[in-house]
Amino acid sequence: MYDLIVGNGRVLDPATGRDGPADIGITDGRIAAVSDGIAPAQGDAFLDAAGLTVTPGLIDVHVHIYEGVTHYGVFPDEDVLASGVTTALDAGSAGAATFAGLRRYLIDVSDLRLFALLNISAMGMLDEAVGELEDIRWADPTRAIAVCEQHRDVILGIKVRLTRNLAGENAGPALRNAREAADAVGLPVMVHPQAAAILLEEILGELKAGDLVTHCFHGMAGGVLDGAGNVHRCVREAVDRGVTFDIGHGKGSFDFEVAERALAQGLIPDTISSDLHVHNINGPVFDLATTLSKFLLLGYEPAEALRRCTVTPAAVLGMAGEIGTLAVGAHADLTVFEIVEGGHQFEDSGGRQRTGDLRFVPRQVVKAGRAMAAVARGYPTG
Ligand SMILES: [Zn+2]
Repeated sequence: MYDLIVGNGRVLDPATGRDGPADIGITDGRIAAVSDGIAPAQGDAFLDAAGLTVTPGLIDVHVHIYEGVTHYGVFPDEDVLASGVTTALDAGSAGAATFAGLRRYLIDVSDLRLFALLNISAMGMLDEAVGELEDIRWADPTRAIAVCEQHRDVILGIKVRLTRNLAGENAGPALRNAREAADAVGLPVMVHPQAAAILLEEILGELKAGDLVTHCFHGMAGGVLDGAGNVHRCVREAVDRGVTFDIGHGKGSFDFEVAERALAQGLIPDTISSDLHVHNINGPVFDLATTLSKFLLLGYEPAEALRRCTVTPAAVLGMAGEIGTLAVGAHADLTVFEIVEGGHQFEDSGGRQRTGDLRFVPRQVVKAGRAMAAVARGYPTG
């Protein structure tokens, strides 16, 4: 007997290579069986996924949680989990001075499996009026190291945002302080690099294997393409060193033209993430499923796009085999999608429109074996 059976669906799991009809038996919050022909009567509960596609629960390595403290925060369960994301990484909403609250009031009490990057700025991302690194005194590695050590089970790296309106002329020292803190605790750095006071070459020069560059297809100054539209040599070298390139769509950081040119030259992002926050949840981001769907119109096969929202981010979070897969023994985190065909309108951060044939629309989400209806945001389908 299983606690829950998700049956009759198409199971699509890039981690195991499975793509076809199968039933999933879940016991004690773990996947206990994946095969065809598990009878509904074998479970205490049955979720009928006929006509739907069952995938590992999506993993979003760039979201912003911390409503009421930062001006970006969305709600972990209502906005993230309900949209089909079962594990997320808060990308620097909190710093050393504000992290304890993020943990106590959100990470520890949410159904969403939530980890965080600690902002090298002790204030985190409090307010629009003053950038968090305009005064370099906020970027104190000693304070960041102490908080990382205190919360090692949930802090997975250091975040630093270098854009001029956030860091002023302090991009160089802020990045070096982030590097120092990360190295001291053996964690990676995630850099938000666009429109900084220093060149991309200098930024990437500080990064090594396991570090992340988010917003990698932004259309602002300091992007991955040179003036002629070719991928910068320093970007290729960073890829070769094992730096992870992450999408981090956001309100201002995903450009269809940059994506098309970069992809055509073989610069393939490792992870597809949303950078979901209050300023983009009503468009153009909506949710991770919508960002995923944009990669289908850019030419990705569904399994290849899905890989970048499941198995690859699971490895980034140090949880390969535990999440981001439907293998037997993994956490029973699943997203059940309707893949809707037809001409869907999508918009990037600059208001450019593209039409896609397929869209992943979340219908159900299962977290730790518990099923709930998903909320589908985005432009109406059909
Ligand atoms: Zn962000």
